[in-house]
Amino acid sequence: MNRMGGMTTDLKLIDEKGLRLDGRRPDEMRPLKIEAGVLKRADGSAYVEWGLNKVMAAVYGPRECHPRHMQNPERALVQCHYNMASFSVDDRKRPGPDRRSHEISKIISEALTHVVFTEYFPRTSIDVYIEVLQANAGTRCAGLTAASVALADAGVPMRDLVASCAAGKVADTVVLDLGKEEDNFGQADIPVGFVPRTNEIVLLQMDGDLTPDEFDRGLHMAVNACKKVYEVQRDALKRRYAARAVDEDVPAPAEEKQEVA
Ligand code: ADP
Repeated sequence: MNRMGGMTTDLKLIDEKGLRLDGRRPDEMRPLKIEAGVLKRADGSAYVEWGLNKVMAAVYGPRECHPRHMQNPERALVQCHYNMASFSVDDRKRPGPDRRSHEISKIISEALTHVVFTEYFPRTSIDVYIEVLQANAGTRCAGLTAASVALADAGVPMRDLVASCAAGKVADTVVLDLGKEEDNFGQADIPVGFVPRTNEIVLLQMDGDLTPDEFDRGLHMAVNACKKVYEVQRDALKRRYAARAVDEDVPAPAEEKQEVA
């Protein structure tokens, strides 16, 4: 009987060769792709595909904070709004906020507040919208990873990016980046948000049971994975800036017309 989801299964989560349901080794992450600057209307944006997770993040601000009584005269408020689309999971998800989305919005807001120079923008709000289009476990990590790239894309001054990844325990084995079945039938899940430049952990949760030694191994595995996630985030931002530079070199429309004539 597992402790996390309370569900049992006949599925063999780890096979004789020590491989997982999708063929991954215990310390292997699902494939991750990030693209920055995908939305024209937002100040900054990022799209993340992480295994079967598909997540969009959009940033607006810093802008005047409403309602006014929420304003902090000394710093900006980083407000995250996490939402899972009704079509993002197998059973239609009831639209609108629920306890889980409030919790995830809160922990991601807190993680991002640690890296944004909020003191530069008193009385403002920096709004971060995270839309999960397809969910397959690990959406809070994908959301936080996307949100920090979107903040950087918006030009919001930050100490560093936050990179995120989870570790956990399935079939008595400590594993990295749990998939849906592992999340449902596994024994523990530890999502981690990590700031590589300052070596700080800004998000840490634990669902399920682990021994202190398993926890240490899981945390170590997740932090190492965050360092890899960080490289993918930085590559996405570098590609974005390179594309912007090319855009700026494009001849003005009038010149283009002359060339055609
Ligand atoms: P995370 O997505 O960060 O791992 P949870 O552990 O709460 O967060 O959720 C694990 C997975 O369970 C989600 O990624 C999603 O695939 C699924 N899930 C969460 N909420 C619902 C829901 N209301 N209906 C169906 N599936 C859900």
